[in-house]
Amino acid sequence: MTATTSRASAQRPRPAMKWWGWGEESVEFTHEDKPALAPFLRDALGVDVTSAGVSAPPFERLQVPEPDLPDALRAALERAADVSTSAHDRVAHARGKSLRDLVRQRRGELGRLPDAVVRPADEAGVEAVVRAVLEADAVLIPFGGGSSISGSLEPPAGESRPVVSLDLSRLASVLDIDPVSRLARVQAGALGPDLERQLGERGWTLGHFPDSFTHSTLGGWIATRSSGMQSDRYGDIAELTRAVRVVTPAGVLATRPVPATSTGPSVREMVLGSEGRLGVITEATVHVRRLPAERIILGYLFPGWDEALTAMRDIAASEASPSVTRVSDAYETRFSFVTRKDPTVLDRLKSAALKTYLSRRRGFDVGEMCLSFIGYEGTERHVAAQRKLTGKIVSRHGGVCIGASPGELYDQKKFDTPYIRDFLLDRGTLADVSETAAPWSALKPLYDAVMAAAREAFAELRVQGYIMCHLSHSYHAGACLYFTFAFEPRPGGEPLDQYTRVKSAIQQAFVDNGATLSHHHAVGTEHAEWLEQDLSAPGTAMLRALFDGVDPGRNLNPGKIV
Ligand SMILES: Cc1cc2nc3c(=O)[nH]c(=O)nc-3n(C[C@H](O)[C@H](O)[C@H](O)COP(=O)(O)OP(=O)(O)OC[C@H]3O[C@@H](n4cnc5c(N)ncnc54)[C@H](O)[C@@H]3O)c2cc1C
Repeated sequence: MTATTSRASAQRPRPAMKWWGWGEESVEFTHEDKPALAPFLRDALGVDVTSAGVSAPPFERLQVPEPDLPDALRAALERAADVSTSAHDRVAHARGKSLRDLVRQRRGELGRLPDAVVRPADEAGVEAVVRAVLEADAVLIPFGGGSSISGSLEPPAGESRPVVSLDLSRLASVLDIDPVSRLARVQAGALGPDLERQLGERGWTLGHFPDSFTHSTLGGWIATRSSGMQSDRYGDIAELTRAVRVVTPAGVLATRPVPATSTGPSVREMVLGSEGRLGVITEATVHVRRLPAERIILGYLFPGWDEALTAMRDIAASEASPSVTRVSDAYETRFSFVTRKDPTVLDRLKSAALKTYLSRRRGFDVGEMCLSFIGYEGTERHVAAQRKLTGKIVSRHGGVCIGASPGELYDQKKFDTPYIRDFLLDRGTLADVSETAAPWSALKPLYDAVMAAAREAFAELRVQGYIMCHLSHSYHAGACLYFTFAFEPRPGGEPLDQYTRVKSAIQQAFVDNGATLSHHHAVGTEHAEWLEQDLSAPGTAMLRALFDGVDPGRNLNPGKIV
């Protein structure tokens, strides 16, 4: 296998994530410092996680096909960008991090790999790459952090044209901050931590913190309509993005960073969620805010899911404006408690005292209680007023504040949580997520329908499964529900078929119950089959016409969304 890298980089390319899993090679999740986790997983899933796991075969054992890059295309790409045809680069850029991606990567079923990974240094380089790809009738797939969970990065299986993955890691700078308008121009390849560091040095924040923050980029967030933990305060990326620059087949599309406009259907909105099908986003102008003077996340417990949902709805309808409103159902609450690190004697005493107080004095059934995190940001006065207002609503629904330490713990471990899926997969257990949004009035029936659909699928497969849920974002008219499910596949059957049975049951329950197929994970290929039920046939026809009109040769990330 040959590895070639031409043209010296202006900025050093950053390494992609593990080719077989989430995050960095050196980081792993472990149950060893969480004494309650292994017994919980044995009860809930019937799996023993104390044995050593197996993650992936050594890279050298993979059968990596040679790239097929015509000489003329290679030469044109080399004039435009760093070009790599190394086996590792091509494998690491072939897919994202959906469960299906990880299972197949670990099996060595690599699928249709890109023939080259290119890393242009600037927008002119991106334009030259796009031109070269179109002239050669090749396929171009923009690659941000590679954290897609919806199959948005994989080339179509039978693609016979050369495939080029365009890695934006060298476009990672904050270019300019307009402090008067509170807008920043940022290059699309900036990863979450790079972006926040550059803004933070000047006292600003974007306030966009998805769980994948450490390994996802501004361009990827825009191309998938991402949402972050603090989006209740700052807005989802769709609201944060004021303007975009996109290299399209017709040239550079540039929208103006105006606060509002009446110029027909929104072109900016068309780019949001376009998953690389309209071109390569090189830059965006985004809202930024001053770093808050105070920031706190408080923990609350509710006696049950109904009370918790109603409290979140009332908070959204009130004058309170918390930065985070998150509440877990009883199943996820149990899971949160068992992932706590080795508690001290004092912690144990406190938690026993709290349980006694809740059950004896407040009438809680501790098996049904729901853990919530509500975050506040701003000046000291603002935070104090918000806490007071929210506290009253929580009490009205039977909830109790349990202080700042559970919130601090959650805040610290949130970016480690994605590693759990690999830990389970190493031990043969499949775990994944499905998330949606629906109006407040539809949330409870939706939740019941999803839980029933998943359990029916588990029963049909004759597997012991677990499903849990949290409400992750609140809006004026409704909220996002985020489901996590896991099971050990039945021996003898194809694990991915069994996974598809459960995942499809959940997705179908979404669209059958007035909800959307995804609130923030995009469509890709994983969710495409539900798009027409979500948008109606004329809606999907409109999207198809848009993609065909902009990219008649289907050279840009074909096969995604529709
Ligand atoms: C463990 C885990 C946790 C996650 N948590 C969250 C979460 O909390 N919130 C959330 O919103 N999502 C979450 N996701 C999903 C994922 O992180 C988001 O979809 C993210 O926005 C993708 O960004 P990326 O830079 O990794 O894009 P990639 O995965 O590289 O690409 C995603 C899509 O966008 C396109 N694209 C990327 N960059 C560009 C560009 N510059 N121009 C045009 N198209 C481009 C790609 O072609 C592809 O179609 C999570 C995923 C995982 C695996």
